[in-house]
Amino acid sequence: MDPEIQKKIIKAGKIAASVRDQGLAKLAKPGASFLKTMDFCEELIKKQNGQLAWAQLSPNEIAAHYCPTDEDQSVSKEGDVIKIDIGVHVDGYLADTAATVEVTSNKYKDMIKAAKNALNAAIKLAKPGTPLWQLGEAQLSEAEALGFTTIKNLSGHTLGKYSVHSGVSIPSFNNKDKTELQEDWQIAIEPFVTDGQGMIKEKGLATIFMVEKERGVRLPYAKKILEEVKPLNGLPFTTRQLTRKFGRGPATLGLRELQQSRIIKAYPPLVEVSNAIVTQAEHSVIVRDKPLVYTRSED
Ligand code: MN
Ligand code: MN
Repeated sequence: MDPEIQKKIIKAGKIAASVRDQGLAKLAKPGASFLKTMDFCEELIKKQNGQLAWAQLSPNEIAAHYCPTDEDQSVSKEGDVIKIDIGVHVDGYLADTAATVEVTSNKYKDMIKAAKNALNAAIKLAKPGTPLWQLGEAQLSEAEALGFTTIKNLSGHTLGKYSVHSGVSIPSFNNKDKTELQEDWQIAIEPFVTDGQGMIKEKGLATIFMVEKERGVRLPYAKKILEEVKPLNGLPFTTRQLTRKFGRGPATLGLRELQQSRIIKAYPPLVEVSNAIVTQAEHSVIVRDKPLVYTRSED
């Protein structure tokens, strides 16, 4: 790997780790505003000279893809199980990391631990030549050891330049995929653990979007949004980045046209099908004989 590229990847990882930890510390206290915490995380990325890819948080039965809008009044409450998921890039080189906190309670301590154990077991296998099914099997087996299961229709993924998912999925169960990890692949491993059925479905209003295919649009609002998100090079964006710039009405109209003409794709919240609590742990790793985990905390 080009050392300059590796430097950028490592830098993105350091920033993502620190933002994840600081965001999580805020959410751990009851009364923390979801909206303010995500704004705080976004600011913190920029302050450390990283570029924002995303800052998301997903409470309780929502596994992923929840981003507060400007109207969102939600705050953390005692007993909440909250996942924070941070994406940072440096010139397109991405770090993707997530962790879970339980707000002043210990009821889901084991489920949080199970996600971490599953992640760590898979990281140990993140070496050239390991078939993907083995990473999946290791994750499920750690989850089951503590009495839980993994969410089967969510997976980790390879990371590419400006690409959140660059083609290969990392399963969290033995899906029989014999594809082998390759030296220097950048992968995000992210087991989701639950005491429910272990499946998610899309539910509720999407606040996260990505450009799918660029083509002409008629509505001026849609044009403006496309111009605004062009510098993101295909990375995701969220509703409030647009409502703040263009106002709620224009942003809503523009987003609607862009979705209808399939220029952007919406990513609605992903909710566990039996409404069970979900935990998550995620690190970004460079595949090596000694796997290089680049989103660990400094300490
Ligand atoms: Mn993530
Ligand atoms: Mn990920």
